[in-house]
Amino acid sequence: MCRSSVVCIFQWCFGTDFKRPHRTELYEDPPSPCCPIVYSPDYNITFMGLEKLHPFDAGKWGKVINFLKEEKLIADDLIVQAREATDEDLLVVHTRRYLNKLKWSFVVATITEIPPVAFLPNFVVQRKVLKPLRTQTGGTIMAGKLAVDRGWAINVGGGFHHCSSDKGGGFCAYADITLAIKFLFERVQGVSKATIIDLDAHQGNGHERDFMDDHRVYIMDVYNRYIYPGDGFAKRAIKRKVELEWGTEDTEYLQKVHTHVEGALNELKPDIIVYNAGTDILDGDPLGGLAISPQGIVKRDEVVFKAARRRRIPILMVTSGGYQKRTARIIADSILNLHNLGLIDKELATSGAENPKCCGFFHLLKE
Ligand SMILES: [Zn+2]
Repeated sequence: MCRSSVVCIFQWCFGTDFKRPHRTELYEDPPSPCCPIVYSPDYNITFMGLEKLHPFDAGKWGKVINFLKEEKLIADDLIVQAREATDEDLLVVHTRRYLNKLKWSFVVATITEIPPVAFLPNFVVQRKVLKPLRTQTGGTIMAGKLAVDRGWAINVGGGFHHCSSDKGGGFCAYADITLAIKFLFERVQGVSKATIIDLDAHQGNGHERDFMDDHRVYIMDVYNRYIYPGDGFAKRAIKRKVELEWGTEDTEYLQKVHTHVEGALNELKPDIIVYNAGTDILDGDPLGGLAISPQGIVKRDEVVFKAARRRRIPILMVTSGGYQKRTARIIADSILNLHNLGLIDKELATSGAENPKCCGFFHLLKE
């Protein structure tokens, strides 16, 4: 065997930088039959009413699941249980320096925008605030693999698009979107191109900074141009930028989303779409400043899933921002709509089409 072959095998085993990916529990196959909807009760932040100090329904994730259960769309034993991302998992993207900074409660208070958190001992902050966010982050990473295996996956949480490898902000402490994509690039053969479709009301400056010069990642971002974060440097990473005015309504919004989702996917066919489906575009949202109706949000998700399905591109959806009390109901309605239209069902599976684990769980429940 020539020396170059030995090097090739070595690189194949250990990666081009000669570093073997760390062991992780996030890529273990879930027990069958599970549907690719990822959630854990640990997502919800509830602690001495602190969560009420942020204009954020910090229990929205559990409410989405309860609505879906009421509608008989899912049951507890069919949900994929999210696992907490470990430090090793987080270090795939984050710097040790950044993770160490989260050991200071005042830093976490700034990132989460809950000032009293600054006065809590850090072990409490870790358990009550950061653990839920780490579990949601684990959920996004898990959903990335599920999406590739089964054609689609939804993490009921996640979508922390303001956090980059060494900086958090805007309630985002971990860069779950960057992590999910880097895990796929590192560990799943055949995944080498990703498209992020970020339709939260805010600019997704976290993943934009992380993928600034990475030509494997195509970023489309539609956001209110006047609100947080207004990150001019990060905007340079956006391939398809759609800046909206205050109070943009359904007709204009949906037309722009449709045109640019089609345009983005025609320009580059990725191996995975990460869809950041923030619902803070909703009319009356105090932070988003847009005026989209609940039906408009349901239609928007439909537009994105239809575009992905027609091209047979795996899609991972995360729920991101959306801070009003009625948000959970709208997310649940949208997932129901995707199901009713056959956009999230076994037929959608691409490489996982033959995988019996997915196996028409919806039909199973409905019978
Ligand atoms: Zn937002």
